[in-house]
Amino acid sequence: MIYTDTRDSSVKVDFKTAVVNGMNSKTGGLYIPVEFPRMNEEILNSNVEPSFRKVAFEMAKPFVDGEIPDADLEAIIADAYPFSPELAQIDKNTFILELFHGPTCAFKDFGARFMARVMSYFNRGSGENLHILVATSGDTGSAVGSAFHNVEGIDVTILYPEGKISKIQEKQLSTFTGNVRAIKINGTFDDCQKLVKTAFTDEQLRNKFKLSSANSINISRLLPQGFYYMYSSLVLKNSSFAKTGIDNPAIIMTVPSGNFGNLTSGLIAQKMGAPIAGFVAATNSNRTIPDWIATGKYEARPSVETLANAMDVGAPSNYERIAAMYSLDEVKKMFGSYWTDNAGITEGIKECHANTGYTIDPHGAVGYKAWQAVKNGGFDKINAGEKNDYTKPGLTANVPEWAGTVADKKAVGIILETADPAKFGSIVKDAIGTDPVIPERLQKVMMLEDRAIPMENDYETFKKWLMENL
Ligand SMILES: *Cc1c(COP(=O)(O)O)cnc(C)c1O
Repeated sequence: MIYTDTRDSSVKVDFKTAVVNGMNSKTGGLYIPVEFPRMNEEILNSNVEPSFRKVAFEMAKPFVDGEIPDADLEAIIADAYPFSPELAQIDKNTFILELFHGPTCAFKDFGARFMARVMSYFNRGSGENLHILVATSGDTGSAVGSAFHNVEGIDVTILYPEGKISKIQEKQLSTFTGNVRAIKINGTFDDCQKLVKTAFTDEQLRNKFKLSSANSINISRLLPQGFYYMYSSLVLKNSSFAKTGIDNPAIIMTVPSGNFGNLTSGLIAQKMGAPIAGFVAATNSNRTIPDWIATGKYEARPSVETLANAMDVGAPSNYERIAAMYSLDEVKKMFGSYWTDNAGITEGIKECHANTGYTIDPHGAVGYKAWQAVKNGGFDKINAGEKNDYTKPGLTANVPEWAGTVADKKAVGIILETADPAKFGSIVKDAIGTDPVIPERLQKVMMLEDRAIPMENDYETFKKWLMENL
């Protein structure tokens, strides 16, 4: 497969180059495949429940074609995914796609574990260490750190905003030893991301070290996130009648979003033939994308802190990919768009628990609220003339093409649950009065020693540290 760049379509690189570079340092653009080949028809049309790994293999194959032989790809996938996504039904036409069964209890394990294995595969035998720099608003760092931990030939430096992530998240980031280390920056996530981006464009650093990124800008993190969209939509297509009484459902994916990597992965799966009728983009008060959809103007801005902190992104990097793949008019036809504030997040956790008995995390709760707004006739009201003020929590005023399937009771929703609620125990407890059950792998990490290095938000300090310590 050939990959091009969101800022310069004359760029043509192979998969390895796209993965190792992370982004195109010459243009500042992000890599995207030149085409999205259709998924293996046999799997698309089968009425037997597919295996997750089989779906993953068939989806990944064309993207690495000629660069990773089938047997090696199969081994990478088997090693990356000893766990699977799980689909839990919470009411007649709503499913939760649990993406937190990996080692760090958040969906980012899916992308990070594939990426780590692919990078180590490509770096093998080069005789030179690969230095991964990653900025995280919480879950990226732990997923990436865990995915690369003890992988030979790879060093990982994680930057996170001090005091802006939960206790468990911080423990998961700051307790690595060996080839993975964390720096806590006195600043915001956007500051961390800027430090990393500046390092990538710093000639002096680039000449000295083989640097690579591991944020959701890396194509090898984005592609594997498509696996669970394909898998879950196929599972639901086949089982919908038995589970919901709806035959041939219009499957709507509601995606709690920050950097919009997850949602972009869904778009890729849909392009490859996943039976997905549409998306609901759900965000917290960082409403850059809902505002873009509502006003037609894209305005990146500083992030604001919310209870769903892994989505506290004011300048979502994958906007650039979405805008390269689709026009705004097309986006408005495909996406419902919704945002809510902290009160809405707490309400979402509470309502989900009260209505369905399911304990959802603050990020998933944004998705729950968004899907409720859709199910409760949000688009009918807009069609009937209700004026939605996009500056207030709720759906933006665009009515996607699939809205009629909701009114016709043909729609079935899948809400992506991006983290285990135990990662945000105190927020969940405040909403429902009880602590979520803490999985054993999280209990273990709480006992480890904190090793993060404190640092001011200053590029020269960061650079000096890299020069002296890598
Ligand atoms: C990263 C993250 C998100 C946001 O995903 P994007 O791909 O950045 O849109 C949502 N929820 C959780 C728990 C996350 O860790």
